[in-house]
Amino acid sequence: MAFCAVCGKKAVFKDCGFYLCKEHFSEKYEREVLASIKKYGMISEGDRICVGFSGGKDSTVLLSVLSKLDLGAELIAVTVDEGIAGYRNDTIAAAEKTAASLGVEHRIVSFTDLCGNTLDELLSKNPNQACSVCGTLRRRALNSAARDCCADKIATGHCMDDEAQSVLMNYLRGDITRITASQNTNSSELFIQRIKPLCRQTERSTVAYGIVNNLLEPLPECPYTKYALRADVRSWLGRMENEKPKTMRNIVDGQERLLKKIAPSKDAAVKMGVCKKCGEPTQNKLCAACTLLEKIL
Ligand code: SF4
Ligand code: ZN
Repeated sequence: MAFCAVCGKKAVFKDCGFYLCKEHFSEKYEREVLASIKKYGMISEGDRICVGFSGGKDSTVLLSVLSKLDLGAELIAVTVDEGIAGYRNDTIAAAEKTAASLGVEHRIVSFTDLCGNTLDELLSKNPNQACSVCGTLRRRALNSAARDCCADKIATGHCMDDEAQSVLMNYLRGDITRITASQNTNSSELFIQRIKPLCRQTERSTVAYGIVNNLLEPLPECPYTKYALRADVRSWLGRMENEKPKTMRNIVDGQERLLKKIAPSKDAAVKMGVCKKCGEPTQNKLCAACTLLEKIL
């Protein structure tokens, strides 16, 4: 049995060669999340934060840690029901339970409210594009839900693994716009700023935090996961991280340095207009969600 390097109690997690008990591991995890929030100026006192809350592991840990930290911000959890049979109902039930136990206001918005169809219906002819359709509509649903809540920011549970996977996926697709995207500031008040308080936490430590604090319950996996390019990138990156620890941190740090180097001047802010169809912020005539729905409906 291993013992905590700080207090000598039974260890639950090994981090950077040190064993930690539940108390000291949780304290370290929360301290690091707070440090990221401060470093990137994510949350100010009095902010209303809309937390994208799927009920899955990462967003459950996010909501729980944000409620625990003394941030002076108000939290509203929003779950997007995409309409995925055999998956979403269980995660919504878990989300309702967690939000109630934390005393956080919880709202549910659905793809059906947004466009009249469930994700299953939208994908009936072509499930291969599942995650890009799902991601585009979910961003749209969260942005308007956050506006309805009068939120200042949208917090999502993306952790360091997601960030590193996204960087690699953008390179694999040769998508220069996305590789350089976070340098763009936009000038629309309709577009709500996104923050990722877990961006410096690994998925491994996030899941461990959820388990040792009894926050997680077994949930089904989304049936469309098998179509995701992300699934291949995740497993390749997982192998690399095992063989060469800190690979993911290097990718995320490298991306941050790249964006600093190519930072545009303030007047290069992207001018945002509004979608002719739905009124959401966009640089084009139609927003990404309306463009996509025109193609598939
Ligand atoms: Fe949506 Fe893809 Fe995630 Fe399923 S795996 S919830 S389709 S993004
Ligand atoms: Zn639109």
